[in-house]
Amino acid sequence: MSQSQIKENADINWTNMVLFTTTPLLAVSIVPVYGYNHGYDTFEWSVFFILLVFCGMSITAGYHRLWSHKTYHAHPILRFIFALGGACALQNDILHWASDHRRHHQFVDNNEKDPYSAKRGFWFSHLGWILRNYRSGKEDLSNVKDLTSDPIVRFQHQHYLKLVLLTNIGLPTILGLIHGDVAGSLLLGGVLRLVLSQHSTYLINSAAHIWGRQPYSNSSTARDNTFLALLTYGEGYHNYHHTFQWDYRNGNRWWHYDPTKWLIRFLSIAGITKGLKTCSPAIVETAKLQKQYLDATDKCKLLKISENWQLCLEEEYHQFANTLKTWSEHHKVIFESKKLATLGKLEKLEFRKKSRELKVKLRDHRRRWAQMIENLGHPVYVAH
Ligand SMILES: [Zn+2]
Ligand SMILES: [Zn+2]
Repeated sequence: MSQSQIKENADINWTNMVLFTTTPLLAVSIVPVYGYNHGYDTFEWSVFFILLVFCGMSITAGYHRLWSHKTYHAHPILRFIFALGGACALQNDILHWASDHRRHHQFVDNNEKDPYSAKRGFWFSHLGWILRNYRSGKEDLSNVKDLTSDPIVRFQHQHYLKLVLLTNIGLPTILGLIHGDVAGSLLLGGVLRLVLSQHSTYLINSAAHIWGRQPYSNSSTARDNTFLALLTYGEGYHNYHHTFQWDYRNGNRWWHYDPTKWLIRFLSIAGITKGLKTCSPAIVETAKLQKQYLDATDKCKLLKISENWQLCLEEEYHQFANTLKTWSEHHKVIFESKKLATLGKLEKLEFRKKSRELKVKLRDHRRRWAQMIENLGHPVYVAH
């Protein structure tokens, strides 16, 4: 039986079914009706936006990049804030979320083992997997034992329901009482915020595995999608994330819209976060080059481009990859700052000279490679 043919009569998870049908229904009915009759003021919209960002970033920076992937370390106060925000987002506790997510990475696209495999379709990966007790989503916390040593994770796990009620109902109610409109605060800061926050996260499991570019790898369905990054605090660079999951950034270039990365980096200045892990630019560029080479060879076969030309492409690819390898090894010295400090004056000069040479060599490689890829089969562009 092929993966896509999986048929399963899984039992309905009634708690989730009721929650995930009533809240969107309220969001599209009572929320606008109440707004039409009574109006929402700046205070209520502010509560809505603040809680939306609080929930969203607690999931992306906390649940995802901190606990699931351990891409950095965070101060206990920040971990506590993320634990509260995660409960407010109502996407299960840290242990269950991280366990599902680690399995998603380990068995990505495997319909039997990936809890939200995109190969089972948009609906299944977006919400369907939550509504029924599928075999692929069976609880197994054996892959998150490391997280149980965190007292904040244990605290959130033990008091999850209380925290959910406190953040989703208690907090908007208190804010509403202070402001003088409990219903308005509950509808915007409670219901609408909850629905939008949940579905924006779920778009990463569904849409970011269907639409977008695959610049680093096509070994999974994960894709980079800038539009989704705008909706998900930077999580839309999902092809990069699946390729380099230990990197605290999802958008690896400074201009990539990734507010989660900016928050983690900003907090590191104050020492609230530390040990931020990143992938070296040489390794990222090598992955990109490899993917482009594989795509180009496929295209050559399809367009029946001469074997000689394909050999040129192969040679240029190997030369480029070798220079990237040399660059990567050369720059290890910079990261091993102690080693750089121990270098003599002459050695430092040599180091800088080699850096400049490699920079020029890489620039030439990039230019030639871009021309070859753009003009497959046209030898005029191959000239060095
Ligand atoms: Zn992930
Ligand atoms: Zn994914």
